[in-house]
Amino acid sequence: MKPESLIYILVFQALFGFEVFFSSTNIFSGDLIYIFGFCRNEKLTNTRQNGKSAVVYHEKNGKFHLFTGSDVEFFSGKLELVFMTEHSNYRYSFPVNMRKTETRLITFTNQTAAAMVSDRKKIISESRSFHEFYKAFTEPYWKGNFISPAGHAPVSSDFAVHRSNSVTGVQSFHRGIDFLMPSGAQVYAPNHGIVVFSGFADIRGNLVIINHGMGLYTSYFHLEKSLVKTGQKIKKGEIIALSGKSGLVTGAHLHWDVRIDNTCVNGTDLLKMHFPPEP
Ligand SMILES: [Zn+2]
Repeated sequence: MKPESLIYILVFQALFGFEVFFSSTNIFSGDLIYIFGFCRNEKLTNTRQNGKSAVVYHEKNGKFHLFTGSDVEFFSGKLELVFMTEHSNYRYSFPVNMRKTETRLITFTNQTAAAMVSDRKKIISESRSFHEFYKAFTEPYWKGNFISPAGHAPVSSDFAVHRSNSVTGVQSFHRGIDFLMPSGAQVYAPNHGIVVFSGFADIRGNLVIINHGMGLYTSYFHLEKSLVKTGQKIKKGEIIALSGKSGLVTGAHLHWDVRIDNTCVNGTDLLKMHFPPEP
């Protein structure tokens, strides 16, 4: 699918040379948002998002940028950003709408598999054990548009699909995108980055985690085989793995996880963005 051109919205332009652009201002829970701006004559001293400090990447020419996003279960609320300079505070506030999600019954014939998928303790503890890999905020390694990690493979289960286990009745949200891929299909790096993890976990199976910089990470689960090593620098389009059905799955596919600040966001947003979105 050809990525659609994003409309970058000029939200505010002050006389002091402060401008900020948002990739979208019609925000839904689970969206990934890219924000960039210029602060020409004064210094950007602090940025806060919803009352917490937000990490912004600064370039030398006064240009700054950041990715942000909210969790899919952040049902209602506001995205509030305050950019502080020596002289002024620039405030932006947008409502975060509840994402409309499709509900799918996940059918199991095997009682044990159904029970395992619903083993919340195990899922949460494995998920927690990976948090440390998503923490570092580094300079941007990514450059230009992101490409699909799955080539032309179609999406088989979209982001935020609400799942209901046919046997146990446990409900959950899909916090990634599944691509329909057979075992042994090539998985590509969507952009430049550094591999922060390449290994195995019970639920995720063989997995790879890539740091693209600026708090943005992409992960690849249920692989047949990883073709990269932890610490390895990778280039956009490089084959990083072969898809498979390792870990806890009902069949072969690629689960693609996109995170900003350790929050899972919609990877489709990333594939649609056009960089650099210079005004
Ligand atoms: Zn998945």
